Amino acid sequence: MAGEPQPDCLFCKIVAGEIPATVVRETERTVAFRDISPKAPTHVLVIPKVHYPNAAALAVAEPRIAAELLAEAGEVAADEKIVESGYRLIFNNGAGAGQTIFHAHVHVLGGKPMNENMV
Ligand code: AMP
Ligand code: ZN
Repeated sequence: MAGEPQPDCLFCKIVAGEIPATVVRETERTVAFRDISPKAPTHVLVIPKVHYPNAAALAVAEPRIAAELLAEAGEVAADEKIVESGYRLIFNNGAGAGQTIFHAHVHVLGGKPMNENMV
């Protein structure tokens, strides 16, 4: 069924608690955790607990969860105190754009000048 956990998906395993992550925020529908290979002083990933291959697919199937993903990204930025200095939200869609994990996620990047492509 659409949205069901996928056995080979790393982020589904993080949602299930089968792989550890440094979780910074969690709601009934989303989890935010630190990127294992940070590209900025703040580099957090916000993911839906349901599995969709990318953010666009999530937005079509579950628009309210897609909106919550963005709201949570904003809350992460507030928690990390990077709202005033500015932060970047990145959705990589497709391998050609650098997507390596095919479970929807948004990167929250900040804490240094954001004037180049990063992830
Ligand atoms: P993307 O390239 O947009 O698919 O982003 C995937 C991100 O997941 C990369 O920035 C990786 O560093 C990050 N990542 C991979 N494995 C883990 C993990 N076990 N815990 C946290 N972040 C991870
Ligand atoms: Zn998944």
